[in-house]
Amino acid sequence: MKDIAEIRADFPLLNRHVYGRQLVYFDNGATTQKPQCVIDAVNEVYTSYNSNIHRGVHALSDKASEEYEKAREKVRSFINASKREEIIFTSGTTGSINGIAFSFGERFIRPGDEIIISHLEHHANIVPWQMMCERKGAKLRIIPINDAGEILFDEYLKLLSGKTKLVAVTQASNALGTILPVREIISAAHSAKVPVLIDGAQGIQHGVVDVTAMDCDFYVFSGHKIYGPTGIGVMYGKEEWLSDLPPYQGGGDMVENVTFEKTTYNELPFKFEAGTMNFAGAIGLGSALDYVLSIGRENIKARERELLHYATEKLSEIKELKIFGSSDKKISVVSFLLNDIHQYDTGMILDKMGIAVRTGTHCAQPVMDRFGIDGTVRASLCFYNTKEEIDILGTGIEKVITMFA
Ligand code: PLP
Repeated sequence: MKDIAEIRADFPLLNRHVYGRQLVYFDNGATTQKPQCVIDAVNEVYTSYNSNIHRGVHALSDKASEEYEKAREKVRSFINASKREEIIFTSGTTGSINGIAFSFGERFIRPGDEIIISHLEHHANIVPWQMMCERKGAKLRIIPINDAGEILFDEYLKLLSGKTKLVAVTQASNALGTILPVREIISAAHSAKVPVLIDGAQGIQHGVVDVTAMDCDFYVFSGHKIYGPTGIGVMYGKEEWLSDLPPYQGGGDMVENVTFEKTTYNELPFKFEAGTMNFAGAIGLGSALDYVLSIGRENIKARERELLHYATEKLSEIKELKIFGSSDKKISVVSFLLNDIHQYDTGMILDKMGIAVRTGTHCAQPVMDRFGIDGTVRASLCFYNTKEEIDILGTGIEKVITMFA
């Protein structure tokens, strides 16, 4: 593995100063910084071959289409899907879940049916299902969590029934960091003949994701959380599901034949890619995945585990600090509060010291309600962070406490 100085040099933004201080970027759960190769890949699209994909006969369009399809192949291989037809580009996790919720709802959901999600979900994996349930007269069932922020597996098993039509859970909680036992969740659902969607927004960047081994029916993620561009994401679905689902958007490219009387749809994956896709974003995402592979996913996982361990120990020494989410299976997220100091105050003061953390509900309001709080301060680390930065955060937190004393 490259050493940390070399890794950090790959990310130009990490060099910048904020309020005269060297930036400490601990908001990777919200979005990650981009390595130069991703910036270059997107730049190259616009400086040397920008042209709309799939529709042209000229050289630029051919090149753009070829690079876009190469990016699809990179995604397929990265998550170990068996076919390129199973990889649909979308605008991100939110776009993917909304699309599946709409199509799945139209095709399979009847009044009285049930969808299971967990109490740990991001709003992106709650609201689209609520909207679908409202449209179809179905019901949302919630897997409860314990005080450590882990799902209660036995309660999940009790929720699975003949009425269950889909289980949709996150791979890891963005608010607390908990990693969910997705393989066990999937296997129990499959025993009941229920398909499972995994929200991989907080999973894809922290280790090896193998959708074939996991056996999930749908897997979705966002490019910007794995060092790629914004506005691009992925919706993986097993071919048997995707070929059965109706498209959720109509327009150019997703059609085979259009008359005013009847339209037939294009084959997979194009059936779900209506209109001009974010091809520059997809190509940038392909470059981000290459970059992650060049660092090594096992290396990333090991380094982030070490950083999480160090941060948890270091912050736990501060007696005024309480960590939310104490599962022993966590991604590198530390969510905390300082006695009665409001999270916004903590976040704003840390910001003035050049430390970027996130405050609020993290779009997971039910998690906050479960703990009777209105938000936390969240430090989300990734492999380009250092122990020195964690020390700077520790010192910054001590200063916040002193200011409020
Ligand atoms: N799901 C989880 C677990 C997330 O953490 C996020 C974003 O933070 C999302 C979904 C939504 O991702 P996006 O805003 O990229 O669509």
